[in-house]
Amino acid sequence: MQGYVARIFTSFIDVPDKISLAIFFSGCSIRCKGCHNKELWNVKSGSLMSEEEVLEKIKANPLVDYVAFMGGEPTDQMKFLIQLCKRIKKEFNLPVAMYTGREFEILPEDLINNLDLIICGPYKKELHVGGWPASSNQRIFRKRGEQWQC
Ligand code: SF4
Repeated sequence: MQGYVARIFTSFIDVPDKISLAIFFSGCSIRCKGCHNKELWNVKSGSLMSEEEVLEKIKANPLVDYVAFMGGEPTDQMKFLIQLCKRIKKEFNLPVAMYTGREFEILPEDLINNLDLIICGPYKKELHVGGWPASSNQRIFRKRGEQWQC
């Protein structure tokens, strides 16, 4: 399977206290006012990549201890996202984080079963807090065992 990806790089800030591989999907249909990544709204701002090409980037970065999806809106390419999350778990046994403008309650089980950390909700400029997460309406869900905690 293939999907549109804008950039991939090693990050020290997207998952606190972890070295993560940040994978930016291109394309966002949510379009929050005040978004800082407007250049990624168009899906064609990224390039088509295969699952294998994305997984190669993980293989080439043995220091990463987390993979983090962001964008853009990762869930706009849901099938590609789920497939990558499943393969990351199976082939690398790494924890996976996702930043999404969508709410936790509407995310499919097939996706959340393969995630460990979810930062969710649309960015709201009027609720900007300048920290993590970026606006106070956004929620952070962590998987503890089989349970999610917010
Ligand atoms: S969901 Fe993220 S990328 Fe999309 S408009 Fe909101 S802040 Fe920007």
